[in-house]
Amino acid sequence: MLDSEVLSLADDNKGKILIVDDQPLNIKILHPLFHQEFDVYMATGGKQAIEVCQKVKPDVILLDIEMPGMSGLQVCEEIKNNPITANAAVVFVTAHFDEELEVKGFQLGAVDFIHKPINSIITTTRVKNQFLLKRQSDILRAIALLDSLTGLANRRQFERSLPESWRHCIRHNKPLSLVMLDVDFFKRYNDTYGHQEGDNCLRSVAQAIYGIAMRPYDLVARYGGEEFVCILPDTDSEGAVSIAQKMVQAVQALAIEHTDSSISSTVTISAGVATILPTLDETWEQVLKEADMQLYEAKAAGRNQVKGIAL
Ligand code: GH3
Ligand code: MG
Ligand code: MG
Ligand code: MG
Repeated sequence: MLDSEVLSLADDNKGKILIVDDQPLNIKILHPLFHQEFDVYMATGGKQAIEVCQKVKPDVILLDIEMPGMSGLQVCEEIKNNPITANAAVVFVTAHFDEELEVKGFQLGAVDFIHKPINSIITTTRVKNQFLLKRQSDILRAIALLDSLTGLANRRQFERSLPESWRHCIRHNKPLSLVMLDVDFFKRYNDTYGHQEGDNCLRSVAQAIYGIAMRPYDLVARYGGEEFVCILPDTDSEGAVSIAQKMVQAVQALAIEHTDSSISSTVTISAGVATILPTLDETWEQVLKEADMQLYEAKAAGRNQVKGIAL
């Protein structure tokens, strides 16, 4: 994720509110309070609420507790247990004050309670407060997973994403490729041009690499120092090597002067690719190690090139 994407999170058009109540009349009362400022979604049962929730990922859920079939508490529990929906702020709406019930609701992850009959000022103020808190924590979460120098995903984000991509590829019986990239003779670059220019160079290299891996599930991260790593799910060895080659070419095309490089007059990178059809028997750590070994091979073979292995 680049900085611009975090910013777009900040002023992302409209907030989303999901109103859940088995009585359409109650939805009718709540809807007008929010429909101008928010995109409002509605559900009249627990199962439907969970479906809508997974699809639209609302910021705030106004959740009736007393519903036939699945109760609001059960809905809340399911929403909080699913990582896709867990960040939604759940505000319970309840007909009468019941301390024990409220304790249970908070324990299940709700953030507030509103009591019927609905008071419009209390309800809108509480919901807007929860909405703002939720959006702020979205932004903080996104920033915590970004590398501050390059704006790419950071290593933590990479380490979170890789097991997910791994599981995805096992489920769909698809190959997974990892690409490790490293700037050639970068110590000499710093020694020649200074650390500040070194940082600028890393930013440009990051942009060039990022521009190549364009599929929605590709991830490009700064692994550390002058090293980058890409996760390419559903990508076979041939495809991944070709992407890595394009990355090497994209960095060369930047034509950043590097007079002290032994292999070129401009900044170059080397890349190692490892591809595997993931199974439960292997681990992604192994594949990362193989990609790193291929990178080492690319360095040894003269740098500014790609080496790859299909495991
Ligand atoms: P090789 O071609 O074998 O990769 O040589 P190298 O000089 O690139 O590799 P080495 O690991 O010896 O040096 C990496 C250098 O990268 C060390 C440090 O000066 C530089 N470096 C690492 N992180 C940063 C950073 O955040 N900013 C800057 N400016 N330089 C960095
Ligand atoms: Mg009800
Ligand atoms: Mg290195
Ligand atoms: Mg290097």
